[in-house]
Amino acid sequence: MSAVPSSARPAGAGSPGNVSRTVERLEGLAVLGTASAGAVRIATPALLESRVGAEDGPGPSIRSEDGPVGQRRLRLSDGAASVRFDVPVLAPEVAAGGPTVLPVADGAFLVHAPAGTAELGELRAARPDIVLLGNARALWAEGAPFVAAIRALRTDVGSAPLLWAPRVALPHRIALLAYLGIDLVDTVEGRVEAARGTYLTSSFGAVDPVPIRRERACPCLACVADPAGTLDAHVVEEYRRAIVETRAALRAGRLRELVESRLTAEPALAEMLRYADRELGPLLEQRTPVAADASRTYVLAESHRRPEMLRFRRRLIERYRPPHAKAVLLLVPCSKTKPYRNSRSHRRFLGALEGLPGLERLHVVSVSSPIGLVPRELEDVPPARHYDIPVTGDWTEGERRMVEEAFDHLLRSGAYRAAIAHLDAEEYSFLSARFPSSVPSVWTVPEGRTTSPAALDALRAAVSGVLDSAAPVPGGPLAVVREELRELAAFQFGRPAAERLFAPPVRLAGPPWFQRITDGKTDLATVREERGLFHLTVAGARRLAPEFPLAVSVDPTLPLTGDLFVPGVRSADPQIRVGDSVVLLRDGTLAGVGEAALPGPMMTDLAHGIAVRVRHREHASTDTPKTDESSRPERGPVV
Ligand SMILES: [Zn+2]
Repeated sequence: MSAVPSSARPAGAGSPGNVSRTVERLEGLAVLGTASAGAVRIATPALLESRVGAEDGPGPSIRSEDGPVGQRRLRLSDGAASVRFDVPVLAPEVAAGGPTVLPVADGAFLVHAPAGTAELGELRAARPDIVLLGNARALWAEGAPFVAAIRALRTDVGSAPLLWAPRVALPHRIALLAYLGIDLVDTVEGRVEAARGTYLTSSFGAVDPVPIRRERACPCLACVADPAGTLDAHVVEEYRRAIVETRAALRAGRLRELVESRLTAEPALAEMLRYADRELGPLLEQRTPVAADASRTYVLAESHRRPEMLRFRRRLIERYRPPHAKAVLLLVPCSKTKPYRNSRSHRRFLGALEGLPGLERLHVVSVSSPIGLVPRELEDVPPARHYDIPVTGDWTEGERRMVEEAFDHLLRSGAYRAAIAHLDAEEYSFLSARFPSSVPSVWTVPEGRTTSPAALDALRAAVSGVLDSAAPVPGGPLAVVREELRELAAFQFGRPAAERLFAPPVRLAGPPWFQRITDGKTDLATVREERGLFHLTVAGARRLAPEFPLAVSVDPTLPLTGDLFVPGVRSADPQIRVGDSVVLLRDGTLAGVGEAALPGPMMTDLAHGIAVRVRHREHASTDTPKTDESSRPERGPVV
């Protein structure tokens, strides 16, 4: 059998004393869950309220205490227990030489970035509960180095430790800091700013308080009081609102949208998000589920860089090929209704073609920003039916490029004999020069409206003209559906696995919205249109041997009775994403199938929680798939 690429569990990991982080939901590098640092237990992401003197209050806090000379003593409290850090005062703030990783308490370390890979490797081996990014404030001011420090820490130390970036957070930065995987932020900087006379808001950053207080736009006690309360009292309230708003957005799977909506508060936020999308791309993609549960808005140029969009575009080019039976490419504009095929415009396109012979030879492909090109058989794959965008008909250079790349791939890898562009010739003129001479093309929208009678007539005439001469598909339309489903499997599992899964004998069963792939007797895989991804059965997984994709190696001493928990994972394919249909192996032998509740690398980084929701086990008396879908983690991993 194939070696399972690791993410292998480090020796001794998962033992008591290891950080006990739990995961409820992931987005960006943010983890909604709980974690402990020593005796302190904190819900992440968290705001540490800085307290001085007799100040007190509920929730996690941080307090500066008298310490030995040359050290800053910090006490982190969750309201019940506390942990003390003795932090050396380093000068200058960005260290030149000297140690870059220092213990500051049991299980707590100060990192002065940039730290070397070797030092971070030693830090990983120490399995810290919490890492303080000591020079976070100086790194943030530099921009890119802040993101580089996060990348180094999360790559070399892993996802388990809590990460605290002291004195960086202002209310409007909290959503982005959470998205970047900063688990703990504090109120220190905002209170310093308030003492300097700065009025801070989550929406606009630093602003003039006079219009806000005159309009009573801030509901906090300090702002509604007469006379008005202190800026310090206001900013603490603003921080509290910002963290609960961030947590709520994360719980709803809309943290990225909140981050983008905050970009106008400070240009540095847009810079930082750009660095993050570029430098943290692989980490962000790793944490992004392949399943989706609701539509998202993609309004700004920054939306186009979201990891799920980049992944769809990359997988189209790397994994997908147009079914061989598709002889004619038909390009159509996308629609607001998802999936596109249910939209009024797309139903009218197909209505115009009704009764024409050989329509199974026609490959309907939608053109859309920010996703690029969406072949009909991939319309249910997230995020193809989970996005909403403003439509203006103006294409930016970047949007054109993403469409052109996908277009060139389809033309290169498909077997098209002709193409029809049912698109506004002016709006999509950037595509007209890209049709190769071997694929004659015709444009069928004479006056800008794709659903006008003239356009629909032209569409029918063009399609009937090119399909007339196409030979019937051997095996008929069902053979084409099988090819389409195989491409869907290639998109999900990669091409070699899809070819093994669809090797003869293969039959299709069930309605189009819930297709079952069988070998004639036993189900191999099922796909529901709302999910857009296959679930494997054990018999289906058996077909993937010997190179099992998305495999999780299970502790051989562990009886597999219910779901698979993290301590029972020996190693996991780092390509596994939340929602993936995974194969469970025991000593290299197939043990079951399930749905990933964590990305592969987190299955071995963490010490607790569900790794895989097991759907079928090898010894199960039946391979009949569950039809209630009760164990789907479409709302993210729940522990
Ligand atoms: Zn206020």
